[in-house]
Amino acid sequence: MKDRFTTNVINLKSYSISEADKIIVMYSKEKGLIKGVAKGIKKPASKLGGRMDMLVANKLMLNKGRNLDTICQAEAINTFFNLRRDMNKLFYAMYASEIVSNFGIENDPNSEEIFNLFYSFLEKISKAEKKEHIMLCLLKFQLKIMNITGYSIELDSCVKCLEPLGKDDIYFSVENGGTLCKNCADGVSKRIKIPYKIKEFLSVISEEKFETTTKYDNLVTEKICDSCINLLKNYIEYYSPKRFKTVNILESIR
Ligand SMILES: [Zn+2]
Repeated sequence: MKDRFTTNVINLKSYSISEADKIIVMYSKEKGLIKGVAKGIKKPASKLGGRMDMLVANKLMLNKGRNLDTICQAEAINTFFNLRRDMNKLFYAMYASEIVSNFGIENDPNSEEIFNLFYSFLEKISKAEKKEHIMLCLLKFQLKIMNITGYSIELDSCVKCLEPLGKDDIYFSVENGGTLCKNCADGVSKRIKIPYKIKEFLSVISEEKFETTTKYDNLVTEKICDSCINLLKNYIEYYSPKRFKTVNILESIR
């Protein structure tokens, strides 16, 4: 049928529109951010069932509507089961899904790359066992999604004078988009000093593919990950086109 289409999606959030129906907001591999009506989803016998839960990846078939498309079939690709058994994992995944929902757009030209990154992130975080590896997963995701959506963080030279950075006196400014040398940092009010090793660590994982195991993967500690996640959280919030709701949850699990 010509007004039907199929796409691979990951569910981001949902809201009720009537006693039985919900709208599901999803990130799709083919079209970026999309919405679809899940008819009868709130009834116990719904044929869509748990496949419409948050953070489930499905292959969907939708009926095109004038205003809204309707989900007519869903086949689960991955429910990321282990994600749901660990509060830390679940919170990080919820935060990541909010990043996708805030930075993702309809008919996103980068939809395939974002979908694949988000999928790999959910899969990796759901399998991770140590806390520091769960955190590293989030950190890599934060850096990668900024690169894909055009908000890359400068971590190699000074964002103001473009000179290469030395090993001492490295500063980071969210407003300026990355690292600053001592001279340039003097005129910037909101900046924090970061150790050379942290700058190197972020720079390496930012350049590597998400799936790549870097030389740091087995060296990281919870403390290092925590301060880096926080640095990037502030950066992401600052450049986000929409306001964040879940960031406070992250504070509570630090
Ligand atoms: Zn400078």
